[in-house]
Amino acid sequence: MAHELEIIPGTEWGFFTLPRPMCIAGPCSAETEEQVMETARGLHAFGIHVYRAGIWKPRTHPGSFEGVGSQGLKWLRRVKEELGMQVCTEVATEKHVLECIKYGVDMIWIGARTSANPFLMQEIADALEGTDIPVLVKNPVNPDLDLWIGALERLNRAGIRKLGVVHRGFSTSAPIPYRNDPGWELAIQLRTRYPKMAFFADPSHMAGDRKYLLELSQRAMDLGMDGLMVESHCCPQEAWSDAKQQLTPNALQLLLESLIIRDNTSENVSYREGIDALRARIDVIDENLLKLLKDRMDVSRAIGHYKKEHNVAVLQTGRWDQLLQDVVARAAQLNISEQAIRSIMNAIHEESVRVQNQMMDL
Ligand code: PEP
Ligand code: MN
Repeated sequence: MAHELEIIPGTEWGFFTLPRPMCIAGPCSAETEEQVMETARGLHAFGIHVYRAGIWKPRTHPGSFEGVGSQGLKWLRRVKEELGMQVCTEVATEKHVLECIKYGVDMIWIGARTSANPFLMQEIADALEGTDIPVLVKNPVNPDLDLWIGALERLNRAGIRKLGVVHRGFSTSAPIPYRNDPGWELAIQLRTRYPKMAFFADPSHMAGDRKYLLELSQRAMDLGMDGLMVESHCCPQEAWSDAKQQLTPNALQLLLESLIIRDNTSENVSYREGIDALRARIDVIDENLLKLLKDRMDVSRAIGHYKKEHNVAVLQTGRWDQLLQDVVARAAQLNISEQAIRSIMNAIHEESVRVQNQMMDL
C-alpha cells in the first residue's frame, strides 16, 4: 500500500545546487580537527559545499574506533564558519539529535543499521519534532522497502518535510565484488513511488573499494538520481575507518568531472529523460537475469553431481516435458507468448544438460 508523504524537494532546502549531481562529500569519520579542516578545504576548493563527517560511528566490533563524539561537532562548526559549507552527520539516538541541534548541524542522516530499527526511528522522530532540519534516510541494511518507507513515515509524521533518501545497497551473503548489493530495483521502486523526494546514492558504502566508485556513481546518474554522497578524506590510506573506499578531494573532483550527466537542455528533454530511465531499468533487470541464470547453472551442476553419485542418466525427458508445460501455462497468465517462452526455456535447458554432462565427465 502506498503511503503519502508530504515532502519538500531537495532543491528547495536552500543549499543544494543544480546541475546534478547534488553532492555531499567528506570523510567517513571526523578524526582530528586538522583532518576535518584539511579535507573540507580540499573539497571546498572545487565547489563542494555540503560536508559530511561521521561523529558517532556504528561499528561491528566493540573496541574499534567508534567516533570522536560531540567534540567533532565543534570542528564541523568551524567548517561552517570558516568555509561557509553546510555540514551534516549521522544520528542514531535522541542524544545525537539534541547535540546536532545544539551545535547547528545543517542536515542529518540516519544510517543503514538505524533505519532498520523502528524503535530508534521513533526515538529520533520524536526528538526532531518541531525542527525543520533536513533528514536523509539511508536504506535499511536488509532489502526491505516497507521498512525504509516506515522510517520515512515516522519522520514525516513528526513534521519533517525536508526528507530525502540515500541508497547505499544491502547486506548480502552472495559473492559479489561490492561491499553491498546495489539492489537498484528497490531504489527504482521507491523513486517511482515518491518522485519528488531528494534521492542520493552512496557509491562509497555500496562499493567498499574506491575502484568501483565511478561505475556505481555513473549508474546512479543514469537512473536519474539527484545526488551522490561520497566519502572523501585528505589522506585515505590513513583513515581510521573505511580506508579502502575513500577518495582524496582531488580524486573526487576527477570522478565528478568524468561522470556523463544527461543534461536537461534539449528540446526533447522529457523524451530523453524517459528513455534513459527506462533503459537504466532494463540494464538492472538484465543484470538480475544474469544473476538468476548463474544460480540456475550452479544448481544444474549440483544436480549433475548428484545424478552421477546415484548412477542416474542426465536427460529425464518426463521431468522436462512437465516443467516446460507448467512454465508455458504460467507464462500465458503473464502475457508472455508460448513461442517466446519455449525458445528461452529450450535454450536454458540445452545449457543445463551440457553443464550436467560436464559433471558426468569429471
Ligand atoms: C556512513 O555513512 O558513514 C555509514 C556508516 O554508512 P551506512 O549507514 O550506509 O553503513
Ligand atoms: Mn563509512
